Amino acid sequence: MSEPNQEIIIVGGGAGGAELAVRLARAGCGPLRLIDQAASHVWKPRLHELAAGARKGELGEIPYQDLAERWGFVFDQGALADLDPEAKTIRLDDDSTHDYRLLVLAVGGVTPDLGVEGVKEHAVMLDRYPDAPALYQRFTAALDKAAAQPPRPARVAIVGSGLTGVELAGYLASNPEVVANPDSELPQTLEIHLIEASSTFMPVTDDDRTREDVRSRLADLGIRIHTGQKIAQVQADGVKTESGDRFDADMTVWAAGRVGPAAGLAHRRAGDQ
Ligand SMILES: Cc1cc2nc3c(=O)[nH]c(=O)nc-3n(C[C@H](O)[C@H](O)[C@H](O)COP(=O)(O)OP(=O)(O)OC[C@H]3O[C@@H](n4cnc5c(N)ncnc54)[C@H](O)[C@@H]3O)c2cc1C
Repeated sequence: MSEPNQEIIIVGGGAGGAELAVRLARAGCGPLRLIDQAASHVWKPRLHELAAGARKGELGEIPYQDLAERWGFVFDQGALADLDPEAKTIRLDDDSTHDYRLLVLAVGGVTPDLGVEGVKEHAVMLDRYPDAPALYQRFTAALDKAAAQPPRPARVAIVGSGLTGVELAGYLASNPEVVANPDSELPQTLEIHLIEASSTFMPVTDDDRTREDVRSRLADLGIRIHTGQKIAQVQADGVKTESGDRFDADMTVWAAGRVGPAAGLAHRRAGDQ
Protein backbone atom coordinates (compact mmCIF):
# COMPACT_ATOMS: atom_id res chain seq x y z
CA MET A 1 0.00 0.00 0.00
CA SER A 2 1.42 3.38 -0.94
CA GLU A 3 1.98 6.01 1.75
CA PRO A 4 -0.49 8.90 1.66
CA ASN A 5 1.27 12.08 0.58
CA GLN A 6 2.11 14.26 3.54
CA GLU A 7 2.95 17.42 1.64
CA ILE A 8 1.32 20.77 2.23
CA ILE A 9 1.37 22.71 -1.04
CA ILE A 10 0.95 26.46 -1.29
CA VAL A 11 0.38 27.79 -4.79
CA GLY A 12 1.21 31.50 -5.01
CA GLY A 13 3.99 33.17 -3.07
CA GLY A 14 2.55 36.67 -2.89
CA ALA A 15 1.71 38.67 0.22
CA GLY A 16 -0.35 35.80 1.63
CA GLY A 17 1.40 32.69 0.32
CA ALA A 18 5.01 33.65 1.07
CA GLU A 19 4.23 34.64 4.63
CA LEU A 20 2.19 31.51 5.20
CA ALA A 21 5.00 29.33 3.86
CA VAL A 22 7.55 30.91 6.18
CA ARG A 23 5.24 30.73 9.17
CA LEU A 24 4.32 27.10 8.58
CA ALA A 25 7.97 26.20 8.06
CA ARG A 26 9.00 28.03 11.23
CA ALA A 27 6.28 26.21 13.14
CA GLY A 28 7.66 22.90 11.90
CA CYS A 29 4.65 22.06 9.72
CA GLY A 30 5.50 20.14 6.63
CA PRO A 31 6.80 18.78 4.43
CA LEU A 32 5.99 21.96 2.60
CA ARG A 33 6.16 22.97 -1.05
CA LEU A 34 5.67 26.51 -2.38
CA ILE A 35 4.87 26.97 -6.05
CA ASP A 36 4.86 30.25 -7.93
CA GLN A 37 4.96 31.13 -11.59
CA ALA A 38 7.63 33.75 -10.83
CA ALA A 39 11.12 33.16 -9.42
CA SER A 40 10.96 35.95 -6.84
CA HIS A 41 8.56 37.39 -4.32
CA VAL A 42 7.59 41.02 -4.87
CA TRP A 43 5.72 43.23 -2.42
CA LYS A 44 2.86 44.33 -4.66
CA PRO A 45 1.64 47.30 -2.60
CA ARG A 46 4.78 49.10 -3.84
CA LEU A 47 4.25 48.37 -7.54
CA HIS A 48 2.70 51.76 -8.17
CA GLU A 49 5.85 53.48 -6.81
CA LEU A 50 7.93 51.73 -9.46
CA ALA A 51 5.28 52.40 -12.09
CA ALA A 52 5.31 56.12 -11.31
CA GLY A 53 9.08 56.44 -11.26
CA ALA A 54 9.13 57.26 -7.55
CA ARG A 55 11.31 54.23 -6.99
CA LYS A 56 14.03 53.43 -9.45
CA GLY A 57 15.42 50.00 -10.23
CA GLU A 58 13.83 47.19 -8.39
CA LEU A 59 11.47 46.54 -5.53
CA GLY A 60 13.68 44.45 -3.30
CA GLU A 61 12.65 41.13 -4.75
CA ILE A 62 13.26 38.03 -2.65
CA PRO A 63 14.15 34.89 -4.64
CA TYR A 64 11.83 32.09 -3.54
CA GLN A 65 14.73 29.65 -3.67
CA ASP A 66 16.55 31.69 -0.99
CA LEU A 67 13.44 31.66 1.21
CA ALA A 68 13.06 27.93 0.69
CA GLU A 69 16.66 27.20 1.64
CA ARG A 70 16.51 29.54 4.62
CA TRP A 71 13.34 28.01 6.05
CA GLY A 72 13.60 24.44 4.84
CA PHE A 73 10.83 24.00 2.33
CA VAL A 74 10.77 23.12 -1.36
CA PHE A 75 10.17 25.73 -4.05
CA ASP A 76 9.05 24.97 -7.60
CA GLN A 77 8.69 27.60 -10.27
CA GLY A 78 5.64 26.91 -12.41
CA ALA A 79 2.07 27.95 -13.06
CA LEU A 80 -0.88 25.99 -11.82
CA ALA A 81 -2.64 24.46 -14.80
CA ASP A 82 -5.13 22.06 -13.27
CA LEU A 83 -6.40 20.77 -9.96
CA ASP A 84 -8.10 17.49 -9.09
CA PRO A 85 -9.49 17.81 -5.55
CA GLU A 86 -10.73 14.20 -5.53
CA ALA A 87 -7.30 12.77 -6.29
CA LYS A 88 -5.61 15.59 -4.30
CA THR A 89 -3.31 16.33 -7.20
CA ILE A 90 -2.27 19.47 -9.01
CA ARG A 91 -0.70 19.79 -12.45
CA LEU A 92 1.65 22.58 -13.43
CA ASP A 93 2.14 24.11 -16.86
CA ASP A 94 5.22 21.94 -17.46
CA ASP A 95 2.90 18.90 -16.98
CA SER A 96 4.54 17.90 -13.70
CA THR A 97 2.08 16.68 -11.07
CA HIS A 98 2.18 16.95 -7.29
CA ASP A 99 0.05 15.15 -4.73
CA TYR A 100 -0.88 17.00 -1.60
CA ARG A 101 -2.31 16.44 1.85
CA LEU A 102 -3.39 20.06 2.14
CA LEU A 103 -3.56 22.62 -0.65
CA VAL A 104 -3.56 26.39 -0.21
CA LEU A 105 -4.43 28.45 -3.26
CA ALA A 106 -3.00 31.93 -2.82
CA VAL A 107 -2.84 33.04 -6.44
CA GLY A 108 -4.14 36.55 -5.84
CA GLY A 109 -6.34 38.33 -8.31
CA VAL A 110 -6.29 40.11 -11.64
CA THR A 111 -7.96 43.25 -12.91
CA PRO A 112 -11.02 42.34 -14.97
CA ASP A 113 -11.61 44.17 -18.25
CA LEU A 114 -15.36 43.97 -17.46
CA GLY A 115 -15.97 43.28 -21.15
CA VAL A 116 -15.24 46.90 -22.01
CA GLU A 117 -14.10 47.35 -25.59
CA GLY A 118 -10.50 48.40 -26.09
CA VAL A 119 -9.19 47.67 -22.58
CA LYS A 120 -6.92 44.82 -23.63
CA GLU A 121 -5.66 46.69 -26.70
CA HIS A 122 -5.12 50.17 -25.31
CA ALA A 123 -5.05 50.27 -21.52
CA VAL A 124 -2.24 49.35 -19.15
CA MET A 125 -2.83 47.49 -15.91
CA LEU A 126 -0.85 47.07 -12.74
CA ASP A 127 -1.26 43.44 -11.82
CA ARG A 128 2.18 41.88 -12.04
CA TYR A 129 5.74 43.02 -11.50
CA PRO A 130 6.57 43.47 -15.23
CA ASP A 131 3.54 45.77 -15.56
CA ALA A 132 5.23 48.43 -13.41
CA PRO A 133 8.27 49.23 -15.61
CA ALA A 134 6.04 48.91 -18.68
CA LEU A 135 3.66 51.50 -17.22
CA TYR A 136 6.53 53.84 -16.40
CA GLN A 137 7.78 53.55 -19.97
CA ARG A 138 4.34 54.49 -21.30
CA PHE A 139 4.21 57.39 -18.83
CA THR A 140 7.56 58.86 -19.86
CA ALA A 141 6.63 58.39 -23.52
CA ALA A 142 3.46 60.39 -22.83
CA LEU A 143 5.49 63.14 -21.13
CA ASP A 144 7.93 63.24 -24.07
CA LYS A 145 5.10 63.39 -26.60
CA ALA A 146 3.48 66.29 -24.78
CA ALA A 147 6.79 68.11 -24.34
CA ALA A 148 7.23 68.02 -28.11
CA GLN A 149 3.87 69.79 -28.52
CA PRO A 150 3.89 72.65 -25.97
CA PRO A 151 1.91 73.88 -24.21
CA ARG A 152 -0.17 70.74 -24.28
CA PRO A 153 0.06 68.63 -21.10
CA ALA A 154 0.54 64.87 -21.06
CA ARG A 155 -2.86 63.37 -20.35
CA VAL A 156 -3.42 60.30 -18.25
CA ALA A 157 -6.78 58.64 -17.60
CA ILE A 158 -6.93 56.31 -14.62
CA VAL A 159 -10.06 54.19 -14.47
CA GLY A 160 -11.02 53.17 -10.96
CA SER A 161 -10.59 54.99 -7.67
CA GLY A 162 -9.56 51.98 -5.62
CA LEU A 163 -6.21 51.78 -3.85
CA THR A 164 -4.26 51.17 -7.05
CA GLY A 165 -5.85 54.03 -8.97
CA VAL A 166 -5.64 56.51 -6.12
CA GLU A 167 -2.07 55.73 -5.10
CA LEU A 168 -0.85 55.63 -8.67
CA ALA A 169 -2.47 58.98 -9.44
CA GLY A 170 -0.82 60.56 -6.41
CA TYR A 171 2.62 59.18 -7.23
CA LEU A 172 2.42 60.09 -10.92
CA ALA A 173 1.47 63.67 -10.06
CA SER A 174 4.32 63.85 -7.55
CA ASN A 175 6.94 62.60 -10.02
CA PRO A 176 9.83 65.10 -9.93
CA GLU A 177 9.98 65.14 -13.72
CA VAL A 178 6.42 66.41 -13.67
CA VAL A 179 6.53 68.89 -10.83
CA ALA A 180 9.78 70.47 -12.01
CA ASN A 181 8.14 73.87 -12.33
CA PRO A 182 8.82 75.55 -8.93
CA ASP A 183 6.47 78.46 -9.70
CA SER A 184 3.46 76.24 -9.84
CA GLU A 185 1.88 74.01 -7.28
CA LEU A 186 -0.05 72.28 -10.02
CA PRO A 187 1.90 70.18 -12.47
CA GLN A 188 1.51 72.01 -15.75
CA THR A 189 2.91 69.21 -17.81
CA LEU A 190 0.45 66.61 -16.66
CA GLU A 191 -3.31 66.27 -16.62
CA ILE A 192 -4.64 63.30 -14.70
CA HIS A 193 -8.27 62.26 -14.81
CA LEU A 194 -9.27 59.75 -12.15
CA ILE A 195 -12.53 58.26 -13.35
CA GLU A 196 -14.85 56.27 -11.10
CA ALA A 197 -18.00 54.42 -12.20
CA SER A 198 -19.61 54.60 -8.77
CA SER A 199 -21.26 57.81 -7.64
CA THR A 200 -18.93 57.60 -4.63
CA PHE A 201 -15.23 58.37 -4.83
CA MET A 202 -13.14 55.53 -3.38
CA PRO A 203 -16.06 53.15 -2.87
CA VAL A 204 -13.55 50.70 -1.37
CA THR A 205 -13.73 52.55 1.94
CA ASP A 206 -16.73 53.40 4.07
CA ASP A 207 -14.74 55.96 6.04
CA ASP A 208 -15.94 59.36 4.83
CA ARG A 209 -13.08 61.22 6.53
CA THR A 210 -10.44 59.15 4.74
CA ARG A 211 -12.27 59.60 1.47
CA GLU A 212 -12.46 63.37 1.82
CA ASP A 213 -8.87 63.61 2.99
CA VAL A 214 -7.63 61.65 -0.03
CA ARG A 215 -9.88 63.60 -2.38
CA SER A 216 -8.55 66.94 -1.19
CA ARG A 217 -4.90 65.78 -1.34
CA LEU A 218 -5.37 64.57 -4.90
CA ALA A 219 -7.12 67.81 -5.82
CA ASP A 220 -4.14 69.73 -4.39
CA LEU A 221 -1.95 67.80 -6.80
CA GLY A 222 -4.16 68.96 -9.66
CA ILE A 223 -5.80 65.57 -10.21
CA ARG A 224 -9.31 65.79 -11.61
CA ILE A 225 -11.76 63.35 -10.08
CA HIS A 226 -14.90 62.24 -11.91
CA THR A 227 -17.49 60.02 -10.26
CA GLY A 228 -20.54 58.32 -11.76
CA GLN A 229 -18.70 57.91 -15.08
CA LYS A 230 -18.77 54.39 -16.44
CA ILE A 231 -16.28 53.75 -19.23
CA ALA A 232 -17.86 52.36 -22.39
CA GLN A 233 -14.77 52.20 -24.57
CA VAL A 234 -11.02 52.65 -24.31
CA GLN A 235 -9.41 54.05 -27.42
CA ALA A 236 -5.77 54.58 -28.37
CA ASP A 237 -6.03 58.25 -27.45
CA GLY A 238 -8.67 58.42 -24.76
CA VAL A 239 -11.74 56.95 -23.12
CA LYS A 240 -15.43 57.30 -23.83
CA THR A 241 -18.02 57.10 -21.08
CA GLU A 242 -21.52 55.66 -21.21
CA SER A 243 -22.91 59.15 -20.71
CA GLY A 244 -21.19 60.25 -23.92
CA ASP A 245 -18.28 62.20 -22.39
CA ARG A 246 -14.79 61.70 -23.69
CA PHE A 247 -11.44 62.17 -21.96
CA ASP A 248 -8.33 62.52 -24.11
CA ALA A 249 -5.49 60.39 -22.81
CA ASP A 250 -1.98 59.58 -23.97
CA MET A 251 -2.09 56.72 -21.50
CA THR A 252 -5.05 54.93 -19.94
CA VAL A 253 -4.56 52.91 -16.79
CA TRP A 254 -7.25 50.32 -16.12
CA ALA A 255 -7.55 49.80 -12.36
CA ALA A 256 -11.18 48.74 -12.19
CA GLY A 257 -11.11 46.28 -9.32
CA ARG A 258 -9.95 42.75 -8.87
CA VAL A 259 -11.22 39.25 -9.52
CA GLY A 260 -9.79 35.85 -8.75
CA PRO A 261 -8.48 33.35 -9.07
CA ALA A 262 -5.87 34.20 -11.67
CA ALA A 263 -5.24 30.54 -12.33
CA GLY A 264 -8.18 30.14 -14.70
CA LEU A 265 -9.85 27.62 -12.40
CA ALA A 266 -13.60 27.39 -12.09
CA HIS A 267 -14.69 29.04 -8.87
CA ARG A 268 -17.75 29.82 -6.84
CA ARG A 269 -18.67 32.64 -4.55
CA ALA A 270 -18.93 32.18 -0.80
CA GLY A 271 -22.48 31.01 -0.10
CA ASP A 272 -23.00 29.38 -3.52
CA GLN A 273 -24.16 25.75 -3.39
C1 LIG B 1 -0.40 48.89 -7.01
C2 LIG B 1 -0.99 48.18 -5.83
C3 LIG B 1 -1.07 48.83 -4.60
C4 LIG B 1 -1.59 48.18 -3.49
N1 LIG B 1 -1.62 48.83 -2.31
C5 LIG B 1 -2.06 48.19 -1.22
C6 LIG B 1 -2.05 48.82 0.06
O1 LIG B 1 -1.62 49.96 0.20
N2 LIG B 1 -2.52 48.13 1.12
C7 LIG B 1 -3.00 46.84 0.98
O2 LIG B 1 -3.40 46.24 1.99
N3 LIG B 1 -3.02 46.22 -0.20
C8 LIG B 1 -2.57 46.86 -1.30
N4 LIG B 1 -2.59 46.23 -2.51
C9 LIG B 1 -3.19 44.90 -2.58
C10 LIG B 1 -2.22 43.82 -2.15
O3 LIG B 1 -1.05 43.86 -2.94
C11 LIG B 1 -2.93 42.50 -2.33
O4 LIG B 1 -4.08 42.51 -1.50
C12 LIG B 1 -2.07 41.34 -1.94
O5 LIG B 1 -0.89 41.30 -2.74
C13 LIG B 1 -2.85 40.06 -2.15
O6 LIG B 1 -2.04 39.02 -1.68
P1 LIG B 1 -2.22 37.56 -2.26
O7 LIG B 1 -1.20 36.71 -1.59
O8 LIG B 1 -3.65 37.17 -2.18
O9 LIG B 1 -1.89 37.68 -3.82
P2 LIG B 1 -0.65 38.28 -4.55
O10 LIG B 1 0.20 39.09 -3.66
O11 LIG B 1 -1.18 38.87 -5.81
O12 LIG B 1 0.21 36.99 -4.93
C14 LIG B 1 -0.25 36.04 -5.83
C15 LIG B 1 0.93 35.18 -6.24
O13 LIG B 1 0.42 34.08 -6.98
C16 LIG B 1 1.24 33.86 -8.10
N5 LIG B 1 0.39 33.22 -9.10
C17 LIG B 1 -0.68 33.75 -9.73
N6 LIG B 1 -1.23 32.86 -10.55
C18 LIG B 1 -0.48 31.74 -10.43
C19 LIG B 1 -0.56 30.45 -11.03
N7 LIG B 1 -1.51 30.12 -11.91
N8 LIG B 1 0.36 29.53 -10.69
C20 LIG B 1 1.35 29.83 -9.81
N9 LIG B 1 1.47 31.02 -9.21
C21 LIG B 1 0.54 31.96 -9.52
C22 LIG B 1 1.75 35.23 -8.49
O14 LIG B 1 2.95 35.16 -9.24
C23 LIG B 1 1.93 35.90 -7.13
O15 LIG B 1 3.23 35.72 -6.64
C24 LIG B 1 -2.08 46.85 -3.63
C25 LIG B 1 -2.00 46.19 -4.86
C26 LIG B 1 -1.45 46.84 -5.94
C27 LIG B 1 -1.35 46.09 -7.28
